[in-house]
Amino acid sequence: MFELRIRRTFAAAHAIVMAGVREPMHGHNWEVTVAVSGDALDADGLLCDFHMLERALDETIRPFMNRSLNETAPFDRVNPTAELVAQHIANTVAAQLPVGVRVKEVRVVEAPQCEACFIAPNTALDAMSKNSSSDARLQSGVVR
Ligand SMILES: [Zn+2]
Repeated sequence: MFELRIRRTFAAAHAIVMAGVREPMHGHNWEVTVAVSGDALDADGLLCDFHMLERALDETIRPFMNRSLNETAPFDRVNPTAELVAQHIANTVAAQLPVGVRVKEVRVVEAPQCEACFIAPNTALDAMSKNSSSDARLQSGVVR
């Protein structure tokens, strides 16, 4: 088993709803770590291209940069918790990975010492990686 990890940061505001009450809007410097894994390397000795991974993550988080998550899809309809941000990033990046490479986990730090981790279920992502990326995006609810 091989694993690659990439990390990015972005600034964005959010206000989550807890027990029906929306908290005040506030900002974070979000730190995202995406871990992908797979059993086999390609002919060049790579699990996959770091730059491809970075592009996939950059495209996923670009709409959030310096914005309110509450006004940015999919969080204009989904509570923008760190847990759901991590799951959204996992699903979106997973749809762009080559066969044999899967998202293992996505960690989202919204404040020092406050970290949420989405740990991808193996079976769901194995099935997702076999679908076309458009099918996978539909499953994740990213594209409607
Ligand atoms: Zn917050």
